[in-house]
This record gives sequence, C-alpha cells and structure tokens, in this order.
Amino acid sequence: MRHSSSGVGPAPTIARSLVARGLDSPRGVAVLGSTGSIGTTALRVLDRQRKSFRIEALTAFENAALLEEQARRFEVRYVGLVREGRHRPTDWRTGVSCLVDAATLPEVDIVLNAVVGAAGLDATLAGLRAGKRVALANKETLVVAGELVTRAAREGGGEIVPVDSEHSAILQCIGHRPGVEVRRLILTASGGPFRGWSRDRLEHATVADALQHPTWQMGRKITVDSATLVNKALEVIEAHFLFGVPYDRIEVVVHPQSIVHSFVEFIDGSVLAQVGLPSMELPVLYALTHPDRLSDDGIVPFDPVRASPLTFERVRSEDFPALALGIAAGRQGGAAPAVFNAANEEAVALFLEGGLGFGGIAKAIESALTTIGSLPAGDRASLLEADARARAHVQGLAHRSGRPVSSNS
Ligand code: NAD
Ligand code: MG
Repeated sequence: MRHSSSGVGPAPTIARSLVARGLDSPRGVAVLGSTGSIGTTALRVLDRQRKSFRIEALTAFENAALLEEQARRFEVRYVGLVREGRHRPTDWRTGVSCLVDAATLPEVDIVLNAVVGAAGLDATLAGLRAGKRVALANKETLVVAGELVTRAAREGGGEIVPVDSEHSAILQCIGHRPGVEVRRLILTASGGPFRGWSRDRLEHATVADALQHPTWQMGRKITVDSATLVNKALEVIEAHFLFGVPYDRIEVVVHPQSIVHSFVEFIDGSVLAQVGLPSMELPVLYALTHPDRLSDDGIVPFDPVRASPLTFERVRSEDFPALALGIAAGRQGGAAPAVFNAANEEAVALFLEGGLGFGGIAKAIESALTTIGSLPAGDRASLLEADARARAHVQGLAHRSGRPVSSNS
C-alpha cells in the first residue's frame, strides 16, 4: 500500500486477479474463526462454491462441537482449536499457534481471517509474509498495526482484500481507477440501536439494548462496537490503510437502512456507490473472487422497492464520542490506534459482563489514550506492549470505580 505524498495512492496489494493466478483448479482456503458470525457465513458461501474453492483449514476458539461438524462436512485436513477443551479429536492442533500454522499451509491460497480482535494480528502478518491473499474481516488487525501489515504484504507478496461491507463497496467502486482520481470516501453507518436515543438515555443503556442491532446480525463484540460507533472509527482507520486515503478525505454518514454500503467521490465530482441488502455473504464472496465475479444463486436478489426509502443523516458525534476518539487516534498514529483498539476490547468485555456501564466504554478509551496513547510503536513487540498496557489501564479503572469487574464470574 503506497502512501504517496500527493495524498491518495492506490493500494498495490489489492490488484491481482485470481484468473491471472489460475482459477481452473479450486483455490485452497483457510477459514480462521469459522464458528463465528462471519465464519459461518463464509462456510455457507463456500458450500455453494465447491467447484472454485476448497477448505484446507478451519480454526476456532473453543466451540469444538461446531468445529467438528464443519470439519466433517467439508472434509478438512487441518483443524485448529485455540482453547483445548475436554472433547476433541486427537489429530486436531491446539493453542494459539494453530492460527499462524493454518494461515501459512502451502495448500492455502486465501486466508479468510474472521477472528475477532487483536488476536487475529499474527495470522494476518504470517499469511501476507507467505504471499497469501488475506480476505480480511478482522479489521482490528489493520487498526493495531496498519503500517506493519501493509509492509508485510509488500515484502511477502501477499494481498489484503477487505471483507468489511463498506470497504468491499469502496474497492468495487474504485475498480481499476488510479488512486489520484479518488477525492473522498464516504463510509455509511447504520447508526446502531441507539441512533435516536438522547444522551441521558444512552448513559443507562443495557447490554440487551446494545445487542439489538437494527439491520445486521453479528458477533457480540462488533454489535457493541456498532452501538458506540467504535466500529465506524475502526473502519475509518481500516479505509486509510487499505486505500491510502488521508483522514481528512474520509467521512462518515448515517444511513439507517444499510443498503448503500459506501460512496466513492472522484475528482470530477462523480460519486459511485455499491448497494445491496444487508448480508455479509456478498462481501465474503467478493473477497474470495476479486477482481473477478462468480455467479451465486444463494445471494438474495436486490429489490429497490423493498429497500426503499433510503435516507441519510449527519453523525451525532457529540453524543457518540468514541468515533472522534478513534479517528483522532488514527491521525495521531504510532501506538494510539492500538491503544484505542485494546482499551475498547477490554471495555466491551467488561460491559458485556456487567462491569462497566455503556457510557463508560468511551470514557475508558479516552482515559487510556490520554495516559498511554503516545507510547512508541516501531515494531510488533512495542504494539503488543501498548495493547497490554491499555487493557491493564481499563481493568484498573473498572476496579477503582468500585463496580464488580464481572457480575457472572
Ligand atoms: P464472532 O464473535 O461471531 O466470531 C469470532 C470467531 O473468532 C469465532 O470463530 C471464535 O471462535 C474466534 N475467536 C474468538 N477469539 C479468538 C481468539 N482469541 N483466538 C482465535 N480465535 C478466536 O465475531 P464476528 O462477528 O464473526 O466478527 C469477526 C470479525 O469480523 C471481527 O473483526 C468483526 O469486526 C469483523 N466483521 C464482522 C461482521 C459481521 O457481520 N459479523 C461484519 C464486518 C466485519
Ligand atoms: Mg462494516
């Protein structure tokens, strides 16, 4: 990913055609995080595309029963479980190393990284260094270590293709046009479950409220991130690194129906958008086939009447402070995005356990950024150090506030 001095540069890692690499025999795919929301969506797509793709590896954190069913259904040779449970077949690999092992198998061409959180970083780096296509749902990877990840792609010959629907839309709109023709990216945000809530009401939002997303069915962490708008901050940083666009040319607009997945404005003023019903099946399929397309009878056909009406609103940044905090961390660079991400991961985990109120998530992030946002960030070790210190900082805040750290432990 080039960052030219003129501002916008194309992302050279997003370029090569699968046809150029030979689509005649099935591509090998490793699905990391196969038991999650994106992972199970991907398996539905891959089940319909068995002529073009073969699953060579699956990994999950601890859901051994679902993993075993998936491995059997797709006759997968490499199966990895991070947390060793009581019950598992003896030929499975266990422990965190299974992610990197799966991502670097010789028979794997595409690593679909659908792990949640910074835990997905090493597998992304390893896959790119080994020259693989990384179909990236795990946006935290680019937030924690954008520079490191883009360098790994450059040096290893790998390429990153986004799975996130907004970034898939942008990639499809930009097509083969050179980056200098791109003036502005406008990311759409559903606004989450609290779009119309007053600031006072937001302070007391419950876990159940936050998990009621109006348009997308997703894992718990990203669902809370959508409620705080942290998710959109992560996506602005992700877009910056994927497309080499400076932060002052990336904007966010609220679009409650989640039909327009993002806009790209070109220098002549023309604006392209990619639209579709809110389902991750299409972005997953496109990340596997880019820049080619495969027909897929399982994708629900678009219906403009059913999708109507489409509306757009400004973001209430003053009531959702995490968005501005995240973008500021992105602009600051260094370890700040890693601190933002880790503080958020820890705060969301505490919120889900009852150890922190909804309004406390943004406050915890702000406190972490103020205290340790300027840590050095030259390499993986320093980023992981910043990550660990941000988590400890948020834990410390929760302890001092006197709330139970965990209500269900
Ligand atoms: P999820 O919680 O449903 O699934 C996470 C998967 O990762 C599971 O298979 C789990 O076993 C595995 N996992 C969790 N912790 C792990 C660890 N420490 N080490 C290894 N594996 C671990 O999450 P999700 O909603 O599928 O989201 C996955 C990623 O995709 C996130 O980065 C999210 O931001 C991104 N994303 C999700 C959606 C969506 O619609 N769900 C859309 C866009 C982007
Ligand atoms: Mg998204």
